[in-house]
Formats: sequence, structure tokens, C-alpha cells
Amino acid sequence: MLADIHHWVFDMDGTLTVAAHDFAAIRAALSIPADQDILGHLASLPASEAAAKHAWLLEHERELALASRPAPGAVALVRELAGRGYRLGVLTRNARELALITLAAIGIGDCFDTEHVLGRDEAAFKPSPEGLLKLAQTWNVPPQRMVMVGDYHFDLACGRAAGTHTVLVNVPENPWPELTDWHALDCGALLGMLSAPERAGA
Ligand SMILES: [Mg+2]
Repeated sequence: MLADIHHWVFDMDGTLTVAAHDFAAIRAALSIPADQDILGHLASLPASEAAAKHAWLLEHERELALASRPAPGAVALVRELAGRGYRLGVLTRNARELALITLAAIGIGDCFDTEHVLGRDEAAFKPSPEGLLKLAQTWNVPPQRMVMVGDYHFDLACGRAAGTHTVLVNVPENPWPELTDWHALDCGALLGMLSAPERAGA
């Protein structure tokens, strides 16, 4: 049951925050084809070009981080879990430095230890399971006793690959049921499922 899981890892953008990235605009600014993964494309470029584009991306994301707004129910959920003494982490394709700015901006910076906030430089980016496996090792807990919460296919696939439970939030209709253990409308609804664990089945 969801309420029995004491190790929670969150995606950040679009999960704890209101989605602010305009990925089409980012691809256009960096000359990345519409059908290509942004980080994957940058990794394929010559080092100097990749570095310049990563620098642009970091600056663009810094502005977004400072203007972050919490997703519905996200602050209440994270505060409840932190209050219960659960271990909390963030696994994001954003940079750790910007994740810390973002978490502080939405008022939950104190709920996460810096070393449990993994960005794209701390672990291979999602859907690689590396970040979740690192947190499992850090917390000395099997992945089967962790849950990954996210708003996108990458988050769910990452959880599946690592062997954690998965929760999808902030997507009204679930396009990826085969990857999802629990689906909640938003973090507020997820908090409600924790308070009524007997009704928390998928
Ligand atoms: Mg997201």
C-alpha cells in the first residue's frame, strides 16, 4: 500500500511545480530537431558546441527556477511526508543547483537534503534508473520499498527500470497505464489517498 512506503522520490518540473518549460521554444533556440530528446541531442554534439548550449539552457532554466510556482497540493503533500519522517528525494533532468533554487522558491527547500536532490550531473538522466538506484543505496533500502512520483513517461519508465513503485500525477487521463502503479489527479489527491489508504489501490 502507498501509505506503507517511506521512501519517496519526486520529479520536479511539472510534478512539484507548475510546468513552465516551453520545450518547443528551447529546441528552436538550440537548433534541436522537434523529434529529438534535448539532453540526448546535446550529448551527441561536439564538446564545445554542447558546452555553449548547456550554458544557454542553464541560464534559461535559472530564470524559470526563480519564478517557480508549486503544483496543486505539492507543498501540503511534501510537508506531510516530511512530517512523518519519511526519506524524500528529487530526481530531475534539471540541474541540482536550479532544483535547490526551485524547491526553495516554492517553499519546501527545507524538506530535502541537498545530497538527495539528484540532477542531470549527479546521475544519468531519466529514464535511466541510475538516480533511483543511487538513492536506494544511500538510504540502504530496496527499490521495491520506494516510490517514484512524476508527470511524464520518463519518470514512470525510470521507476519501472529501477524496480520502484510509480505514481503519475498532473495528467488527467493516464497514457501509460502499464508503467503506473497509482494515478492521482494531482499531489493534493495523492495526499488524500495517503489519508485513506484502504482506498489507495491502483
Ligand atoms: Mg516533469
